[in-house]
Amino acid sequence: NRQWLLASRPVGAPTISDFNFVATDIPTPKEGEVLLRTVYLSLDPYMRGRMSDAKSYAEPVAINDVMVGGAVCVVEKSHHSDYSEGEWVVAFAGWQDYSVSDGTNLLKLGKNPTMPSYALGVLGMPGLTAYMGLLDIGQPQAGETVVVGAATGAVGSLVGQIAKLQGCKVVGIAGGAEKCEFAVQTLGFDACLDHTRDDLAAQLAQVCDAGINVYFENVGGKVFDAVLPLLNSKARIPLCGLISQYNATQLPDGPDRLSLLMGNLLIKRIKMQGFIVFDDYGHRYQEFSQAMQAWLAEGKIHYREDRVEGFEQTAAAFIGLLTGQNFGKLVVRVGPD
Ligand code: NDP
Repeated sequence: NRQWLLASRPVGAPTISDFNFVATDIPTPKEGEVLLRTVYLSLDPYMRGRMSDAKSYAEPVAINDVMVGGAVCVVEKSHHSDYSEGEWVVAFAGWQDYSVSDGTNLLKLGKNPTMPSYALGVLGMPGLTAYMGLLDIGQPQAGETVVVGAATGAVGSLVGQIAKLQGCKVVGIAGGAEKCEFAVQTLGFDACLDHTRDDLAAQLAQVCDAGINVYFENVGGKVFDAVLPLLNSKARIPLCGLISQYNATQLPDGPDRLSLLMGNLLIKRIKMQGFIVFDDYGHRYQEFSQAMQAWLAEGKIHYREDRVEGFEQTAAAFIGLLTGQNFGKLVVRVGPD
């Protein structure tokens, strides 16, 4: 049973030495438990937070514990009446080949799911995040301008496409020309700007000539700096993530801009709301799942997966996620179907 353990708490960007790749015995399920074998592991930005012991909405991973994560697994052995061998499930199984579950919080995928890894992306946690954050908090109206950062990633790519389905003008922000071209050509965004260029703020002002009504915040930092002056009165900001800050060890240099932000929120009566997807919207998973399955079946949503082959690549792939090395939803193939 191969496992990735947290070896040390990173200061700044994580490095390979913050993880330990080990092998242990396969666990034995007791009465009322199932043995799960991981086929696909999801890698997500929140895992950086779990490596740190700073106060957060969830407990940190302990040193020498298995890294946490959602996974698509096959039931290898069942001593639980609700699960049978060969059945597929989504589980919070962690970075390991085998795990044991008492059946709590498992999502059934059936015996022969067609695209099982989709349950970690477009039909899973990132999909629910995009759908609820945009529609429930962002409340986009036809004709409005929606801006989203990390635009080709798991969440951002879906936010932009759902906003297009609502009749909005969609402007993405992504790292590099290739990602920007993909956002426009394949995802159907109206425009996509490269945040690695120095003229981001000027370009954004030009493209958003009627201002910004909804800014779906995934990134923070200089992307938010470019967005803030363009927000319209009554703009909405679903505050989903701040990935540009996850490896930060201190507040950014430069003048304190808190009063600038507060002044803008006040004068423009902007609504900015943070959310934690399963805590706030777990109970609406069915509603999301039905809508997204229908859009996928109708060909209205394009989904790009960045699949890493080889479990030994997991830590390197995760480190790359925090610097934009992924292109699409990052998933590791851990074992055979
Ligand atoms: P992505 O698939 O979008 O991958 C992360 C992307 O972030 C990278 O590809 C990169 O895209 C971008 N990025 C990384 N570093 C920086 C940086 N310094 N500056 C600007 N962009 C950067 O990940 P997800 O879709 O899974 O997550 C997107 C956001 O949503 C994250 O902030 C995450 O924490 C948040 N989230 C929040 C949830 C919640 O419940 N609130 C649930 C799920 C996700 P590029 O190359 O284009 O810059």
